[in-house]
Amino acid sequence: MSGPAKQRLIGDLRRAGILDERVLAVMAAVPRETFVPPTFAERAYDNMALPIGYGQTISQPLVVAAMTQALDVGERMKVLEIGTGSGYQAAILSRLCRRLYTVERFKMLSKEAERRLLDLRIHNVVFHVGDGTKGWTPQAPFDRIIVTAAAGEMPLALIDQLALGGVMLVPVGPDPVNQTVERIVKTEDGYTREEIMPVRFVPLVAGALPSFEG
Ligand code: SAH
Repeated sequence: MSGPAKQRLIGDLRRAGILDERVLAVMAAVPRETFVPPTFAERAYDNMALPIGYGQTISQPLVVAAMTQALDVGERMKVLEIGTGSGYQAAILSRLCRRLYTVERFKMLSKEAERRLLDLRIHNVVFHVGDGTKGWTPQAPFDRIIVTAAAGEMPLALIDQLALGGVMLVPVGPDPVNQTVERIVKTEDGYTREEIMPVRFVPLVAGALPSFEG
């Protein structure tokens, strides 16, 4: 079903500057149609974000590819993702690192993502339901951290959980439709900060989930 559409998308990613062959290979290998609701299966290889329920979205393929490339993940690395969502970005990263820890505040999204990854026989991802702004203290430090929701301000608790020399990508900005992905590198006396690209993510929401929200 998705062969030509997928090939077209991979070509689009190349033209947009995704040149890391490992990233292109995993983008080609992971079936995005598994991660979108059945009604959107036809559009799984369109280069756009799609709704996944609970007011959340699976990110645009170019954004997933560009952030994955900028994260520069090595196969021995321990990686933390905040915002599991559909599990698509988690599946991509799982193919490039040793172990991925992923945090989501909606239990149902986390459970659905976990089932999708098991169906794809991906076994190096650990799921956690909770407030990702706090990170995952028992498993820190992490070699890489990726935040896939927009933070109003720099989440300093996550920088604390980076290993020395570790890299974090985080979309930052109070504007709901206009944020910038920042690349943080942890140093001996703090961290450096560099702007990578403009993006539009759903907000990172701190604190407990009201019980009626699911
Ligand atoms: N990476 C996802 C896209 C994530 S959309 C994918 O590939 O499909 C952003 C996700 O972040 C949403 O599912 C949202 O519920 C979650 N989120 C928002 N604030 C959060 C928080 N404080 N802790 C954990 N998850 C959060």
